[in-house]
Amino acid sequence: MTAQIIDGKALSKQLREGFKARVGALVAQGVTPGLAVILVGDNPASRVYVGNKVKACEECGVRSFHIALPGDTLESEVLATIARLNADPAVHGILIQLPLPPHIDGRKVLEAISVHKDVDGFHLYNVGGLVVGNTIFPPCTPYGVQLLLDTTGTDVAGKNVVVVGASNIVGKPMALMLLQREATVTICHAKTRDLAQHTILADILIVAAGKPGLIVPQMVKQGAIVIDVGINRLADGRIVGDVDFDGVKEKASWITPVPGGVGPMTVTMLIENTLRSAERALRMRQTDDYQDWEAPVLKGH
Ligand code: NAP
Repeated sequence: MTAQIIDGKALSKQLREGFKARVGALVAQGVTPGLAVILVGDNPASRVYVGNKVKACEECGVRSFHIALPGDTLESEVLATIARLNADPAVHGILIQLPLPPHIDGRKVLEAISVHKDVDGFHLYNVGGLVVGNTIFPPCTPYGVQLLLDTTGTDVAGKNVVVVGASNIVGKPMALMLLQREATVTICHAKTRDLAQHTILADILIVAAGKPGLIVPQMVKQGAIVIDVGINRLADGRIVGDVDFDGVKEKASWITPVPGGVGPMTVTMLIENTLRSAERALRMRQTDDYQDWEAPVLKGH
């Protein structure tokens, strides 16, 4: 069997096409959706990621506010910048590009973002929302993976899902989202003994470890759906995931390529969350209901 490809680039393009009508409807009501991206310091990879996000905003008609702060910016100044953006009605989403310089407490900075503008979904309120299956903004990478899984037409309820990687931004939220969809979820991490004994049972295998070649065909169940979140740059400059794509595609039923799988979806879901935030702000303004904490339930949206 050769797996069918889950094309993140194509899905991403399709979703972005759909954004145009939503942006048009917002603009017609006097609201231009806006995303503020804060970059502290001069990390070259972070600069590229921020550049991609700003470009995607422009393509989708979202106004971007790119705030570049020097690497020695005081934590208090970053917090003051966030407070200003929290109060700015032109800004519907605020994103802090991670990692932050070591003198800044990342958790403190993330908690300073208004939950109404936390389009990355990293604020404790949104993280907690995942636990009870009800969050305002699902974190972008797992959210994108969920939509990629949906394109396979698979109902995840009752399936064995194995998530390799337990980070706060990918592995853990991913596991919670699929648990909410009634999958039987196992989370593996660097200290998991005999990783293969877990992965071989997966109907759906999601890998986010940042280790090229971690998943080889012997670790994969025949017919499994394999989602590779990893992005690794090899010494020869090639970008690869965590899965031995050529080998595993002969066993899987569906597989994401790297690049062109999960990567394009992450930025697209950031725009989705920003549009949702702008729509939510407009709704609150129209109804004058500042208690509108009604959050979308992850299941089935
Ligand atoms: P991270 O914070 O470094 O977390 C990696 C996780 O993988 C940790 O939980 C770690 O376990 C686990 N791990 C490491 N080696 C392992 C091994 N040999 N076996 C099993 N588990 C192992 O990384 P991240 O931010 O979650 O990102 C993971 C990968 O996804 C990276 O390649 C990153 O570039 C990529 N990524 C892609 C996107 C996208 O849009 N496509 C978005 C975000 C991240 P411990 O917890 O025990 O240390």
